[in-house]
Amino acid sequence: MSSIAWLSTKLDDGRIACEACNQHCKLHEGEYGICGIRKVDNGELLLLTYGLAAAVNVDPVEKKPMFHFLPGSKVFSFGTVGCNFSCKFCQNADISQYPKEHAHKIVGHPLSPQHAVSKALEYGCQSIAYTYNEPVVFFEYTYDTAKLAHEAGLKNIYVTSGYETHKAIDTIAPYLDGMNIDIKGFSQSFYKDICGGSLKPVLDTIEYAHKKGIWIETTTLLIPGYNDSDEEIRAIAQFQADLDPTIPWHISAFHPMYKMLDVHRTPPETLRRAYDIGKEVGLHYVYVGNIDDEARESTYCPKCQALVIDRHGHIGQYVTNHLVNKNSCRSCGYTLAGVWQ
Ligand code: SF4
Repeated sequence: MSSIAWLSTKLDDGRIACEACNQHCKLHEGEYGICGIRKVDNGELLLLTYGLAAAVNVDPVEKKPMFHFLPGSKVFSFGTVGCNFSCKFCQNADISQYPKEHAHKIVGHPLSPQHAVSKALEYGCQSIAYTYNEPVVFFEYTYDTAKLAHEAGLKNIYVTSGYETHKAIDTIAPYLDGMNIDIKGFSQSFYKDICGGSLKPVLDTIEYAHKKGIWIETTTLLIPGYNDSDEEIRAIAQFQADLDPTIPWHISAFHPMYKMLDVHRTPPETLRRAYDIGKEVGLHYVYVGNIDDEARESTYCPKCQALVIDRHGHIGQYVTNHLVNKNSCRSCGYTLAGVWQ
């Protein structure tokens, strides 16, 4: 299944410039983009995975992770094959890298935008997440689904590496309610050598999407020996604190995956160290993930430190929301940032 990848422009030299992500592919007839799912065919840029979901689940929204976004609700989640990055630690490489590792083969199960929305409603979800692989590479599929979702009263979430162009963000912003954006590290060498991207466009996306009023949470997977020095952790936290200290930061434990099977798991002490650094630089909401640490997965009022959202068990298993008047601390009345209804 395919459709015209309309977030693109035809160049005078006959190539087509894809305008979805900051890889900025300019493609001749027959060529594929870096993501492996956008291809020029008969003079048009096509999205080869339109309506073809490679992974579909109903998840707790906390699993995205989104902790300040309709807490305790279910999110209909899907993704396709293909990705604009090539992270050596990818947890979903079986789908994200599939076309590149299988001679451009495209796989997936039919799931039209209409079908995705009706399934989300049927399962009692309050939102749809475009996740598992990078959503901007299947932009037109997300756009059509997100628009229908809004009409049906559902919200939309991108779980993304943050490589969207401004044009992509401008186009989807009316329908996009939240983004969880990875800050995978804070060095250009890490982004280039380990992920196949660049750091600066990611930071720019976070700033730009935040300015557009989209609710942002960020995630950093801490990989021992790669991005877990005090300096690098502090630089990530400081960037975020300078932008807006109310943006939640999820710091997550690495498990050996894909091309990094020789790297050991993140010790819990590293996550606790990063948590402390995040708090020291002034972030209001820091959370650890991929380990059991109820105290550091729960939300506390930044003003009076009262427990306002209690999370324990497997991620999203037990979520008790103590906020009153939808977004206020029950003890002191402080208003917490987030999307609460
Ligand atoms: S979405 Fe794909 S084709 Fe478009 S610029 Fe990014 S990697 Fe290239």
